[in-house]
Amino acid sequence: MKLLNYAGQMLCDAVYPRECCGCGRLSDRTGRHLCWSCFSQIELLHSDLCELCGNPLTGSATSAFVCGYCRKRKPAYDCARSAAKFTGVVREMLHAFKYKDALWQSADLVDLMQGALTAQFDYQAIDVVMPVPLFKTRFRERSYNQSYVLARELARRIERGVDGRSLQRIRHTDTQTHYNATQRKKNISGAFAVVRSEWIRGRTILLVDDVMTTGATLSECATELKRCGALRVYAISVARR
Ligand SMILES: [Zn+2]
Ligand SMILES: [Zn+2]
Repeated sequence: MKLLNYAGQMLCDAVYPRECCGCGRLSDRTGRHLCWSCFSQIELLHSDLCELCGNPLTGSATSAFVCGYCRKRKPAYDCARSAAKFTGVVREMLHAFKYKDALWQSADLVDLMQGALTAQFDYQAIDVVMPVPLFKTRFRERSYNQSYVLARELARRIERGVDGRSLQRIRHTDTQTHYNATQRKKNISGAFAVVRSEWIRGRTILLVDDVMTTGATLSECATELKRCGALRVYAISVARR
């Protein structure tokens, strides 16, 4: 049903101009739900970032640096980046995208990720794009995996395949929102399993998630992917809390 709504929305968009999700005026970006003015006000994360996790430094860095969090516990992924700060219209859009079936916003959200990907990664090296998986009961509740929707669109744009099956979430995990970094790591530990390691071995994988907080989930996915022979694991998300 949600997919039908999505298709219906796409059809309407082709006929009628869209209202900007930010200011409510008609969007002047073709096929997008954010106008240029609102899009250009988004706080992007493109400089003075931890070279591993993409954590923004307060102030400016004169050379490459690794943040305190990564120094204490090196993440299992090779590099993670988020396109924007989790504030303002980005936060509102991500909330609607995840909890209110606003799948038609995917093009706008993928615009942000694609910008960060091309600017900050050697994306030509990527073999396959993978979403962070949902556990099956959560998937049934929501009927879609928001990260899969983003991964599929991003993969299409960079002409790679999307693999939503090889990595699976094998147990339910509590929502991480109220946990600190140590609790998050413990909560997510052992939550993922590779079910088709022949699709993983020797490959460079781009993991996709909607929002990154401490990176514990992405790091746990990367641990399992590397255990099964992944050559490199990169991670990208729309926004960082
Ligand atoms: Zn606007
Ligand atoms: Zn870091």
